[in-house]
Amino acid sequence: MAENTPNSPTGAQLIAKTLQHLEVKVIFGIVGIPIIEVAEACIALGIRFIAFRNEQAASYAASAYGYLTGRPGVLLVVGGPGVVHALSGIHSSQKNFFPLLTICGSHPSSHLSSQGSFQSLQTTTFLSPHTKLTIKPPKITDLPKALFQSYSTAFWGRPGATCVEVPGDFVTNTTSQPFPWPAGTGRVSDAPRTMADPARIQRASELLASGKNILVVIGKGAAYARSEHVLREFIDKTGFPFLPTPMGKGVLPDSHPLNVSAARSYALKNAEVVLVLGARLNWILHFGDQPKWNKNAVFIRVDMAAEELPINTPFGQESLSLNGDITLTISQLLTTIRSKPNPSPYLPNLKEAISQNEQKAAKKHETPIPKGKHLTYHRTFHLIQQTLHSLSPPEDLIYISEGANTMDISRSILTLSAPRQRMDAGTDATMGLGLGYSIAAWEAYCGENLAGGKKKVIALEGDSAFGFSAMEIETMARYHMDVLIFVMNNGGVYHGENYPLVSDPASTTPPSSSSAVISASESWQEDPRRAKASLPPTALSYGTRYDLLAKALGGEGYYVTNEEELVDAVQRGYHGNGPVVVNVAIASGGGGKLEFAWLKSEKESEKSK
Ligand code: ADP
Ligand code: MG
Repeated sequence: MAENTPNSPTGAQLIAKTLQHLEVKVIFGIVGIPIIEVAEACIALGIRFIAFRNEQAASYAASAYGYLTGRPGVLLVVGGPGVVHALSGIHSSQKNFFPLLTICGSHPSSHLSSQGSFQSLQTTTFLSPHTKLTIKPPKITDLPKALFQSYSTAFWGRPGATCVEVPGDFVTNTTSQPFPWPAGTGRVSDAPRTMADPARIQRASELLASGKNILVVIGKGAAYARSEHVLREFIDKTGFPFLPTPMGKGVLPDSHPLNVSAARSYALKNAEVVLVLGARLNWILHFGDQPKWNKNAVFIRVDMAAEELPINTPFGQESLSLNGDITLTISQLLTTIRSKPNPSPYLPNLKEAISQNEQKAAKKHETPIPKGKHLTYHRTFHLIQQTLHSLSPPEDLIYISEGANTMDISRSILTLSAPRQRMDAGTDATMGLGLGYSIAAWEAYCGENLAGGKKKVIALEGDSAFGFSAMEIETMARYHMDVLIFVMNNGGVYHGENYPLVSDPASTTPPSSSSAVISASESWQEDPRRAKASLPPTALSYGTRYDLLAKALGGEGYYVTNEEELVDAVQRGYHGNGPVVVNVAIASGGGGKLEFAWLKSEKESEKSK
């Protein structure tokens, strides 16, 4: 490959050169035949390649990188099984509208797809239902055009997934055709944006100025659209209360006085005119339907995708929907709504509901938990945030969270101050994307190639969700990614299990010095569920030492069972140089004593070192 002059590059070099022209800074993936040379050629041109342990995590990372940067994340995988594993992130991109370009290997162009080639698949057929566009270029010289088109298509219009399938022989074959673009001309311009129909803007403005109970719903479309500035102006000018969706959270700071998240149910039930900015009326918003919503509520929806607008919008109201870019559409509304509308009549009641709910919530996280009792989710997240805020400006903390309780409870406790500061399991409630997303966030905010302040990536993981791709800790360690990961260890899916955590420590025999490796099986010995004929499907081993796993994979780890240890671990973990796992023994609903005797003695011996 090195022998090739720039005048007769290999397909691999052509791909790398095209990606360089497209200003791609980083590629996520796993190499194998035939795409190793593609990754090598990219690295030779200064593009970073982050090599993962499973294509699933790599595909989640690339898709999240697309959301965070506004330009497609790029994924490189082998054909066949590589594509099958990557389908998770590809599909997730399509469902969440994150721009993603996948480049995958394929059988040689001289073979028929039916021949049963090595790691091969009818990729176009397989991926077509899950992508906006999948291209198999017929000639090596078509590679740049195919990449250019699929890269642009991924983030123009409604963002999503695209794919270029590269036949194996194209990678190493050479071409003497000149590179299609002169230096500096390859960059794809920003996506074109459209304004909404002025007649509809007029109708929407009249409704919004009608003096009824208004609610503005801020979705992750508004975060992706980078609408924060114009939205701030809009809310401040109109005085409309707003409610963010889980990933719309942070577009305006949580501390904004018109944020009604703490009275969500009351707001939904009593809003009469709802302006929905970049959010589908799917399960996250209860389908815009009763009983959560008022039966007479009128929805004004803003979305770049016209085909989304009739979906779940109450019949007859589609005519109010605004098809356009959120930032531009809000600017239009700002011009048509000239004076400040009368305040929504339900505002005083909303504020009352907010203050009552906040008081109730505070009780759950403000009361200290004495040593020997389980930490709770509420208290743990409160302490994590409090400690992190003593170490970092709040807006420099990037949160990734997944796992049913972990995601839901942390969302209500952690306050956000900046847009795109938090990612979660998203539209499909996909568990297992947390470590991939964390790597993407680290690359987007801390990677060497992007300017900007150094932020800290914090992953909040349920123990079940963490298990999907825990091996990516090694990936983080390899690239010195200082991600701080909390595993909320309740020994199970959802609520974990309601059983005493351990038998009497006095009656347990401490295992030998190699306890680290056998901790899970030791805990299994003591697990009272063992006596039962079968385990509940939600059960995971209790006391699994994910912290030791992190150590074994090149990171740091802490096992914490009380407040003091937790705060100490947050402080140490924040300053870690690579991945740090804080394994938090969390209440599963049961009481009982906290630790295995041998864990205690192991900790004591660690301390005395
Ligand atoms: P959430 O998860 O917050 O409920 P969804 O993923 O359901 O949000 O919806 C996001 C919506 O935002 C999608 O329908 C998408 O088409 C839309 N969208 C994304 N970017 C823009 C933009 N720049 N302008 C208008 N709409 C956008
Ligand atoms: Mg759990």
